[in-house]
Amino acid sequence: MSKVRHVLGISGGKDSAALAIYMKIHYPELDIEYYTADTGKELKETYELIKNLEIFLGKKIIQLRGYKESPEIAFDHKLKMLGGFLPSAQNRWCTKYLKLDPFEKFVGDDPVISYVGIRGDEDREGYISKKTNIQSIFPFRKNIWSEDVISKFLSNLNIEVVSDIFKSAVQNNKSERIQEILLTKLSPNYNQQQKLNQLLDLGIKEFNHAVFSFIKTTNYPLSQEDSFALINNEEILVRDDIFKLLEDSGVGVPEYYKEIEFEIDGKKGTYARSRSGCFFCFYQQKIEWIWLYEQHPEKFAEAMEYEKDGYAWIQDEPLSDIIKPERIAQIKENYIKRSERKTSTSPYLLDILAEAEGEGCASCFI
Ligand code: SF4
Repeated sequence: MSKVRHVLGISGGKDSAALAIYMKIHYPELDIEYYTADTGKELKETYELIKNLEIFLGKKIIQLRGYKESPEIAFDHKLKMLGGFLPSAQNRWCTKYLKLDPFEKFVGDDPVISYVGIRGDEDREGYISKKTNIQSIFPFRKNIWSEDVISKFLSNLNIEVVSDIFKSAVQNNKSERIQEILLTKLSPNYNQQQKLNQLLDLGIKEFNHAVFSFIKTTNYPLSQEDSFALINNEEILVRDDIFKLLEDSGVGVPEYYKEIEFEIDGKKGTYARSRSGCFFCFYQQKIEWIWLYEQHPEKFAEAMEYEKDGYAWIQDEPLSDIIKPERIAQIKENYIKRSERKTSTSPYLLDILAEAEGEGCASCFI
């Protein structure tokens, strides 16, 4: 049996859920441990998604919790320890104590492959553990490897080694061109991304086989595996594919992603939530706060209760101000205007929320 553990974190968001479905369909032979790190402050739709996923996967999703010994909800327990100091983008203690620490405790020192649901149409790297026993893989992207692996693989210092690996791995009509690219050193005029793209364009499978051979010469967890099925994967999945996977599998798309129509001064718009995560997450946009106020008023009221002693979720605007009727109208109008501007400059952009979903905490929102 493999000594390497394969894990997949379910954030409660659509992309990690779709990745779990995808892995179960395409790589049933992998014994993946699914886990979720729960702050105790998600919307009920997230918990429903996790239940549906468990049915589809035929497996329990392991619930990781910080401060298990406390009878309180993990978030509230830590908040009390910090004297009511709310987390923010500048001080994201919630992610560290309630998500990353429990995850790192869960994997311990075991060699681990961690599958991450960043999509092929996203330009972000995602959470990469500083622990060397955890290696991230991104099955939805054209480049499935993490940045640290690629920067070693394409480093000028490894040109000869990598060139030899490709010589034995790839013998076809592209070999000459591949060698030409490989032997060109990185420089201010030729960066790693350009080199990576050129190599991937000449064959994703060939590239992956070469990276895997290279990894076998390192201490990465994957070096302990004799084979790795994902190196033959050439599929790239984007936003629409994710929704399709969720719907076709029967797991379903969490309700909060579904656009709801609103009207202000005769103008129509739609709003939704762009991401999973805590209902009071400070990364949400003002229109999402209004969505929370109108669609989950009890959760909004709960979020308001946290605002005391000068602490607030949004800098310079307490939640009690954001729900004044004139302010709600202003936020909705601005949102409609921004959405119109976006669709007039790019017909491909669904809306501002879709664009914003990549911002913030990769550990919480994938
Ligand atoms: S969802 Fe937001 S508030 Fe919750 S843990 Fe993540 S960053 Fe913190």
